[in-house]
Amino acid sequence: TEPELLSIVIKCVNFAAIKHKDQRRKDEKETPYINHPIGVANILIEEGKIHDPIVIIAALLHDTVEDTNTTFEEIENEFGTEVCNIVKEVTDDKNLPTMERKRLQIVNAPNKSHKAKLVTLADKLYNLRDLQNSVPVGWSQDRVKEYFKWSKAVIDGCRKTNFHLERQLDLIFAERVSQE
Ligand code: NDP
Ligand code: ZN
Repeated sequence: TEPELLSIVIKCVNFAAIKHKDQRRKDEKETPYINHPIGVANILIEEGKIHDPIVIIAALLHDTVEDTNTTFEEIENEFGTEVCNIVKEVTDDKNLPTMERKRLQIVNAPNKSHKAKLVTLADKLYNLRDLQNSVPVGWSQDRVKEYFKWSKAVIDGCRKTNFHLERQLDLIFAERVSQE
């Protein structure tokens, strides 16, 4: 099944690249959005030592439903129920107000599956590193600070999931505190 798996992963990267093709990150350089899901999958493999293809494929797709016209039905048909369920767990309900969505991420984190927690940890690690590298256009220092604080609350609900990822996140938080 090795060559088959390779085909599925390439199909998945291609799917995500097409879905995110017109989107950019919020950094000054307007990095292509697809760098983010690919980077999250890479963090899981290289730093988290995660080699479960279901988790990697879910990571590659994790922002497609939230940020593009992709439906869960599409994900389920193309990549299966298990992948679809993880993507569901990490997708915010866009019908809710922003602040409620942020609150729910904190509240729901502890109830997520192990695989969804892995994706959440790598996602937050990627975004916090992004923020360390450059402050998004139009963001105040206060807003950056709030984002770190909120991320920490979400991550604290995903503890005892992956030693390596949690250590990297803790290093980032320790660095922040020492700068205050
Ligand atoms: P947003 O939720 O608007 O932005 C953060 C998200 O953007 C990240 O979780 C990440 O999500 C994505 N992202 C894209 N590019 C980057 C990047 N370069 N670095 C980091 N993340 C990136 O920000 P807030 O959570 O701060 O704000 C939420 C809402 O509150 C917004 O709608 C905003 O208008 C409002 N607001 C908040 C203020 C505050 O002080 N917090 C001040 C003013 C307004 P992903 O993984 O999905 O790509
Ligand atoms: Zn993301």
